[in-house]
Amino acid sequence: MSVQEMNLQELLDCFHEVAHDPGKQMKKYLDEGKKVVLVAPVYTPEEVIHSMGMVPMGAWGGDIQLNEAKKYFPAFICSIMQSIVELGTKGVYDGASAIVIPSLCDSLKVLGQNWKYAVKDIPFIPMTYPQNRKPAFGRTFTKAGYERVAADLEKATGIKFEEDKLPASIDVYNAHNAAMRAVSEKLASHPEITNQQRSDIFKSATFMLKEEHTELVNALLAALDKAGASAKKTIRIMTSGILADAPDLLTILDENNMQIVADDVAAESRQYRTDTPDGDKAPLERLADKFAETDNCSVLYDVEKKRVDKIVEDAKKADAKGVLVLLTKFCDPEEFDYPLIKRACSAADLPCVLIEIDRQMVNYEQARTAIETFKDLLA
Ligand code: SF4
Repeated sequence: MSVQEMNLQELLDCFHEVAHDPGKQMKKYLDEGKKVVLVAPVYTPEEVIHSMGMVPMGAWGGDIQLNEAKKYFPAFICSIMQSIVELGTKGVYDGASAIVIPSLCDSLKVLGQNWKYAVKDIPFIPMTYPQNRKPAFGRTFTKAGYERVAADLEKATGIKFEEDKLPASIDVYNAHNAAMRAVSEKLASHPEITNQQRSDIFKSATFMLKEEHTELVNALLAALDKAGASAKKTIRIMTSGILADAPDLLTILDENNMQIVADDVAAESRQYRTDTPDGDKAPLERLADKFAETDNCSVLYDVEKKRVDKIVEDAKKADAKGVLVLLTKFCDPEEFDYPLIKRACSAADLPCVLIEIDRQMVNYEQARTAIETFKDLLA
């Protein structure tokens, strides 16, 4: 069946299947003879990998028990990093040609160094970003980082990077960004779509070629239009954080009739806000400009912390009644921003609640209590 022939439920099932079985998706690409390159969060230059004919596949860890990873990390480091190494040592990523890890927080820097020793047969490729990404020297530094990634990929895979192939990949990624922005906005007026289903749409993007995911998302947009608006009334909220994909947490939100109508989540909308600009510059310079122009994220240097105002602005625009901050345990960049978010929300009369989460959480009863209290506050 072609994507265009799928109905709304079939499309939602498809997103769910990919989001919950990335291993199957990876095997599919490997069986097709494609090379897969793992991309750790966040802002990894996937376009470079895509332009070389390979599949960039997200590695955001998983909800698993940590054993081996404890040999490499102290206990007080974010569980995303630990679970990426745990999955690597367990052979879950076997078949991948390399892993590209950016350097945007201290934990990510540590991840790369530990990966080299923990998972010896999948080469580690660092992407070193500058703190000052906006001035010309910062853009030059970013471009040099992309060139190094391309050279290391050539070494790891034997595939040559050709810059003139990059614009086509940039177009694929810009089209995907547009589809993801459109679906986020559309879902805000479709309360019949559950928070779990919304999460599946975003999470599946991590594991698919972007042109394939865009096709599915565009089909979903058409199916939602065809279905028309639902009369269901929900409590509209916005989420913020690094990850928001825990099924138990999403179920609690659904059970409490709370609908995510906008997000400031790194694994969701944050990465789709900024397109690579058009223009006559060399493709790698355009890509460096995209990174320079990416804003409003805890891992991106910003003395004015404009991200905080953006959260309030987006929540108001989406008519969210409150902001739910899902703080990944031991994530310093997010912890630093939280007091400012709380203060800005208070000033804007926007209730804001924080729930600490990690990839090893098995009991969500404390989160349930916090969400029920939040619901009472918003009702
Ligand atoms: S930004 Fe936070 S969650 Fe992401 S890798 Fe760094 S510490 Fe972990």
